[in-house]
Amino acid sequence: MIPYGKQDITQADVDAVLAVLNSDFLTQGPMVPRFEQKVAAHVGARHALAVNSATSALHIACLALGLGKGNWLWTTPITFVASANCGLYCGAQVDFVDIDPRTYNLCPRALAAKLEMAEREGRLPKVLVAVHLCGQPCDMAAIHSLARRYGFRIIEDASHAIGGKYRGEYIGNGRYSDITVFSFHPVKIITTAEGGMALTNDDELAHRMNLLRSHGITRDAAHMIHEPDGPWYYQQIDLGFNYRMTELQAALGISQMDRLDGYVARRHQLARRYDELLTDLPVITPWQHPDGYSGQHLYVIRLQLDKLSRSHKEVFQAVRDQGIGVNLHYIPVHIQPYYQQMGFKSEQYPKAEEYYAEAISLPMYQGLTDIQQSEVAHILKEVLK
Ligand SMILES: *Cc1c(COP(=O)(O)O)cnc(C)c1O
Repeated sequence: MIPYGKQDITQADVDAVLAVLNSDFLTQGPMVPRFEQKVAAHVGARHALAVNSATSALHIACLALGLGKGNWLWTTPITFVASANCGLYCGAQVDFVDIDPRTYNLCPRALAAKLEMAEREGRLPKVLVAVHLCGQPCDMAAIHSLARRYGFRIIEDASHAIGGKYRGEYIGNGRYSDITVFSFHPVKIITTAEGGMALTNDDELAHRMNLLRSHGITRDAAHMIHEPDGPWYYQQIDLGFNYRMTELQAALGISQMDRLDGYVARRHQLARRYDELLTDLPVITPWQHPDGYSGQHLYVIRLQLDKLSRSHKEVFQAVRDQGIGVNLHYIPVHIQPYYQQMGFKSEQYPKAEEYYAEAISLPMYQGLTDIQQSEVAHILKEVLK
């Protein structure tokens, strides 16, 4: 089976992890800050906080921004459930903005229209989670100007987009958002097994997220509510979690970071090659907005069903049966049973549902060879005949 995504582990990665295993610190040592500094320096952010998953990063990002009961979080329906669940963790309500039919990202025009209505109804969002689907950046300039006008905060869910750029600058530098989140799950661009990171240029947000990832505990006398009792002393000044990343994970991340730009370049090569291999097939290949340089986590095609005798499900199954591990990113969050129970209706976000009815993710990872890719294209061609 050729999977849709796969990690790349080198001897350097193995050596880095083994060295930590034989060292004094398995957690809370020097590797996590080193990893944070490396990612922050690479993308141009002031602060980076490593945590045990992107889901955890989204959670503490929302809390640091003050999201809570009575507030709204908005995001796109075409994302992994974590982009929306983080709002529910905080006791906030979640709503969605339909997608742009060309980029499949949250549509800034739909956002503007929904904000105008929400302002009249007095239910403007406090936080918007902008997801860079497949690694293609959202229209951040438009979203940022709406944020200034309506007063909401922006989290970039860049789980697909580390190494990508928007208007020539690395995603994560925070020019158009308050906090950016990366995921290091093995299917993503670089991996720490499980892991995530929150980046910000705001000292106060960084301080809050730092507390929240480790029980709300501080050892810094400057942040304590009253004088320390003695040198052994720490104070819990907020209700936090244990969302810490281990030293083993951070060492793997540091080692993987050395290959990030090469990984993304190889993914672009593969994407251009897919574009060519699929030219004459009844599929829509991904469209790239000129403002963005994608992280290229995924390569999603849409079937032109009116030109096919087989259904979406049949094509998907037939390709899988031939040993190609295609996938579907994503089932719209609002049609998940948990969200349906909350009152979301099918057909509330028509562009997202049209996308869901046609989308298929083809294998896309740095280790995919040209020969394997040709096989994917060949099988797809046979199935679509
Ligand atoms: C993978 C992913 C997440 C969650 O990442 P974890 O590190 O697995 O918690 C969140 N949002 C998006 C868009 C993702 O693809």
